[in-house]
Amino acid sequence: MIRTTCPYCGVGCGVLAKPRENGAGFEISGDPHHPANRGRLCSKGSALGETLDLDGRLLYPRIGESRVTWDQALDHVASGFRRIIDQHGADSVALYVSGQLLTEDYYVANKLMKGFIGTANIDTNSRLCMSSAVAGHKRAFGEDLVPICYDDLELADLVVLVGSNTAWCHPILFQRITAAKQRRPEMKIVVIDPRRTATCEFADLHLPIRAGTDVWLFNGLLAYLHQHGIVDTQFVEQHTVDASRALLVAENTAGDLRAVAKACRIDERQLAEFYGLFARTAKTITAFSQGVNQSSVGTDKVNAIINCHLLTGRIGKEGAGPFSVTGQPNAMGGREVGGLANMLAAHMELGNAHHQRIVQDFWHSPTIADKPGLKAVDLFEAIHEGKVKAVWIMATNPLVSLPDADRVKQALQRCELVVVSDCVEKTDTNACAHVLLPAAGWGEKDGTVTNSDRHISRQRAFMPLSGEARPDWWIISEVARRMGFAQGFDFSSPHEVFDEHARLSAAGNDDSRAFHIGGLTGLDRAAYDEISPVQWPLPTKGHAGTARLMEDGRFFHPDRKARMVPTTPRMPVNSTDQEFPLVLNTGRIRDQWHTMTRTGKSPRLSTHIAEPYVDMHAQDALLTGAKEGELVRVSTRWGSLIAKLKVSGEMPRGMTFVPIHWSDAFASDARVGALVNPIVDPISGEPELKHTPARVTPF
Ligand code: SF4
Repeated sequence: MIRTTCPYCGVGCGVLAKPRENGAGFEISGDPHHPANRGRLCSKGSALGETLDLDGRLLYPRIGESRVTWDQALDHVASGFRRIIDQHGADSVALYVSGQLLTEDYYVANKLMKGFIGTANIDTNSRLCMSSAVAGHKRAFGEDLVPICYDDLELADLVVLVGSNTAWCHPILFQRITAAKQRRPEMKIVVIDPRRTATCEFADLHLPIRAGTDVWLFNGLLAYLHQHGIVDTQFVEQHTVDASRALLVAENTAGDLRAVAKACRIDERQLAEFYGLFARTAKTITAFSQGVNQSSVGTDKVNAIINCHLLTGRIGKEGAGPFSVTGQPNAMGGREVGGLANMLAAHMELGNAHHQRIVQDFWHSPTIADKPGLKAVDLFEAIHEGKVKAVWIMATNPLVSLPDADRVKQALQRCELVVVSDCVEKTDTNACAHVLLPAAGWGEKDGTVTNSDRHISRQRAFMPLSGEARPDWWIISEVARRMGFAQGFDFSSPHEVFDEHARLSAAGNDDSRAFHIGGLTGLDRAAYDEISPVQWPLPTKGHAGTARLMEDGRFFHPDRKARMVPTTPRMPVNSTDQEFPLVLNTGRIRDQWHTMTRTGKSPRLSTHIAEPYVDMHAQDALLTGAKEGELVRVSTRWGSLIAKLKVSGEMPRGMTFVPIHWSDAFASDARVGALVNPIVDPISGEPELKHTPARVTPF
């Protein structure tokens, strides 16, 4: 039996994989000793054993339609990148990677681009889910970090879930919260979401705010707390900066309860109830996810939430704090190694000469990126414009997931060199690739991931590699060597990569940076294999890990104080109008993962929701002239799709919801990314995936 970690959401549940006695596959169960799930698994995790066969796997390297050897493929990629860099410079190439990669894969990819090729043009699909949280954390705390641990969710007396259908998207966390509420019925749950999702079934209060008005709501809360004297004056004076400016903006924009209720289109009494509950409850967690982040004001939303916790000193304490729930299994690990175009490595900063020197000296690299690279949406636009001429996409399917996805398709069709590493043969993105590289899949991969509450866990291999598939860290290292960078990429195992990553986190780190895993350096192979889930930071050998950050009130700006960032409310960039009167909202369903390349293999997962749908309020549906179950067309200024009309009862008037999972590869004309506006948050670069003006008409 092998202990490993689920490859889906950011909860990061521990999984046990046990070979069946008849040799037919593996029994999958929850790991009772993993601190994230303590033995539980959700429907997706439980069905992992049904996704392990070879059906649909990419099993050997290809150039065009031809099967080739690894040597031929790797030489082709290395010489293609080298030629384009020589002709057009380092910024003419890019990597687009994924929160599905293991930390070791991510580390090697980031090292190649930022230290050896010399560009920061490496971005990740985590840009689509967590980058607003990253930017908000950095503005407030000085570093991208999550202050709390999962146990705090059970210790809180009030859990506020903002823009998060936790019941479907992070089911095991939701089960932990609801189990805590069953044990302590006095614990309150508030859900803030335009949709009345499954998460609301356990809520004491649901605030169905108008999409995009979160900053009004939390500025209003900040003003309310101040007006009612719910301020930890000592904490604010000793540990924060800019409280008076943040309060002034909050008072000016949301100081009146009635005006806030009107802006958010919610009942004034319910708003007062929420504010009163927050004011009275010291042990409060505000957990937020994509409804907050995927917005043109996502970073401000995050800071508006954090401000309320800083004003009340509810951070770094048991059962209290803001909490970003990450979408992917290793969105956090990617951030640790600098897998975003605006980060360096080990939470160090691009553009900080001291940090550049630490990283370059450590890597002994010929160069070091000194300015941010292109963020996801801008990166594919630069490909479209011909500025980026070669792109290597790893473990993600941007033709389905990025906004304005038809333009992304055009971009790849006109790109000089498109390389894709994936474990799946047929995806919409693979169809545009010049070179396909077979990557190891879950169960074959070996390395580490970091979940939403900073637990580093091992993903362990329990099956042989399929066909000619290889681990991503190996593929990247081989290309690097063939580009002439042998010295920096002579890794022979993920263990060696991890050790280098851990040593870099300690380099020049006098505890002035939060991310520090120096305690995990120097492990031998056996000790690396045995790593038990542990929360960073763990700066010294034998350190047990850190459940909660900032307990001493010290943050990570140079003065060790937090910033209360003034946030001015703004509505989404594109408004509804007569032609497109509805807001198109997008998101996950309970039993599918991303573009269904793995969960789509499980018949039992498809019994929950078998096909794409367009969810609408009953009155809006009536206006379309179509009946529930009939096909309708959803159109926006960017594209259209056809799916069945559904009236679930979850939707508010004026909003329609389409799930993100279906694509052309699943023989479905429901690739919702093609409809989404390519507007991004100007600070984080995260796209406004929750708000595109749309109309629905009968098909
Ligand atoms: Fe996997 Fe997330 Fe389900 Fe846990 S909650 S089993 S990590 S999908």
